[in-house]
Amino acid sequence: MKLNLLLFFFSTLVTLSWAQTPNLSKYNEEIKKVEKTVKYFEVEKINDQFYMLIGGGGNVGIYISDENVVMVDNKYEIIEEVLMSSLREITAKPIKYIINTHYHHDHSDGNRAFGKMGIPIISHENAKIRMQKVTTLYGGIYDFIDGFVQGQYPSEALPIITYNSKLTLSEGGEAIEMYNFGSGHTDGDTIIYFKNANIMHTGDAFVRYGYPYVDLNNGGSIKGIIEVLGSIAALADDQTVIMPGHGNLSSKQDVLDLRDSLMNLYQKTILGLENGRSYQEIADSIEETLVGDPNMPKAEITKINYIKSIELELKN
Ligand SMILES: [Zn+2]
Repeated sequence: MKLNLLLFFFSTLVTLSWAQTPNLSKYNEEIKKVEKTVKYFEVEKINDQFYMLIGGGGNVGIYISDENVVMVDNKYEIIEEVLMSSLREITAKPIKYIINTHYHHDHSDGNRAFGKMGIPIISHENAKIRMQKVTTLYGGIYDFIDGFVQGQYPSEALPIITYNSKLTLSEGGEAIEMYNFGSGHTDGDTIIYFKNANIMHTGDAFVRYGYPYVDLNNGGSIKGIIEVLGSIAALADDQTVIMPGHGNLSSKQDVLDLRDSLMNLYQKTILGLENGRSYQEIADSIEETLVGDPNMPKAEITKINYIKSIELELKN
């Protein structure tokens, strides 16, 4: 009896410790690749106060006030020096705040470096909750994300300011508005609107690489992202400069175009599923195929994956 009990405790312990060791092989692979390949960022100037840093992870937005820098996202910890040298080409001013658009590694992994420096980090409250856990990203849209496990962020890398639906920060004559429009790319997305400059950073709620990735495992929603794109467009006007999570500077019309494309796909998928059509038949009923970044996997495959993901979302 005693031996049985001991064995039971031992096996429970083994199971627990095994379950607690996350398989970070895909993450580690990505970090290695980033370290090897990312040696500089393309610096895109919007005006004297606003810049976008492109390459090696999500687009970083830079706002320079009279005294300080506010940075939106921070790419990867491993290339923090590359990021800092790009920033120092533009300005010598200190970083006062960092805003995370969401919790994914390619946007917020740099928290691990900047958090140690004591720079305050701001995010949506759900983004912080996700950062405190080991998460597995949804792999049903892009195959290369399948089985991608993201580790917990250490405490110094966590946001110290969070909000629920809207937060406004004043810095150097600029009103920096942060919005969460509900579940979209994840359940903790922040859209940042620099109101006076009329410049926006959308994070991955709006991207230019084709079918936007939606993290269904972590509160994301395809129906939701369509609505979020509508909210982004409603906040913008025809002059608004929009920094997407990935891709080139964009306009309100670009956001509306993506919203309309996804809406069409969503509605035709529902109709097709109701009529018992195959995935291929549904895909064929949608004339448009979103081809964005040529480096992304075949758009036709992603289109089918999107249809399957909508079906999955409808079942939940
Ligand atoms: Zn993301």
